[in-house]
Amino acid sequence: AIPLVISITTAVSAKAGILVKDRLAIERMRTVDAVLFDKTGTLTKGEHTVAGIAGAEGVDRDEVLHLAAAVESDSEHPLARAIVAHHGHAHGEGAHASDFRSRTGKGVEATVDGRHYAVGGPALLRELGIEPPNELEGDIDTWSGRGATVLYLIALGDKTKMLGALALEDEIRPEARQAIADLRAQGVQKIAMITGDARAVAEAVAADLGFVEGRDEVFAEVLPADKDQAVAELQKRGLRVAMVGDGVNDAPALARADVGIAIGAGTDVAIESAGVVLASSDPRGVGGVRRLSKASYRKMI
Ligand code: ADP
Ligand code: MG
Repeated sequence: AIPLVISITTAVSAKAGILVKDRLAIERMRTVDAVLFDKTGTLTKGEHTVAGIAGAEGVDRDEVLHLAAAVESDSEHPLARAIVAHHGHAHGEGAHASDFRSRTGKGVEATVDGRHYAVGGPALLRELGIEPPNELEGDIDTWSGRGATVLYLIALGDKTKMLGALALEDEIRPEARQAIADLRAQGVQKIAMITGDARAVAEAVAADLGFVEGRDEVFAEVLPADKDQAVAELQKRGLRVAMVGDGVNDAPALARADVGIAIGAGTDVAIESAGVVLASSDPRGVGGVRRLSKASYRKMI
């Protein structure tokens, strides 16, 4: 009867947009205890827009935007593309930068008009050992509380100084809430989220998605190279883990998980590391994989 089951499974999965690369992943999915979602691009749309700009004392907002867009002009990161696009809408032609360098998971740096700058998030601030000046704190708190990602513009050199901050908003996917509720209804104990983004942002998104304190979990400010450690940590607690992600930096975590699920128009590396690939970016597909797993293996026994 096995060949029949397999052909049924394949037909059902193809119709549901589920590409099964590793049959064992489908078998394991029905016993998974925890589902760990990547935040950006998986639970959120990954399409950022600039929602706020603030300058430190003596620096105007246009200058913050102009310099940040120049520093980000050579970066492929979605946050960088959003800043450059926003600057383009307002001012047309952007400024030019040289000596571009990326600090993975932290930010970027480049020289503009003879001066060296960095743009990045909290991990960059920690590395440089600097904090926002008082006059920026109000805006930063408001933005973070709303779940916006805050990036900082910093002049580097002997007088390292923060010049301003920008807020970038990313929408939560409208289907994400339902995707999570469905997994819970199917008996998944723990929903978790992982991101390189700031803790305040991650907590705001988690609250919006109905994460339950004490049961669900948020891994924030995780560097790309450490994402698979979160999977390992959950596994160490005896949980079977499904990881859902789309990015290059999700690949090691997808490979380490009991079930790795690459979502939507994911990067090639993510697809290669996953046991299951969802054709669409709709996170409700993850519940579909679990249903498929239950249906297939019930028939086999
Ligand atoms: P995620 O895990 O959410 O997909 P990344 O690991 O790509 O995020 O980035 C983590 C953090 O590093 C971002 O939230 C941001 O603070 C910072 N960062 C990464 N790339 C850039 C960039 N090009 N410009 C500014 N900040 C960046
Ligand atoms: Mg991502």
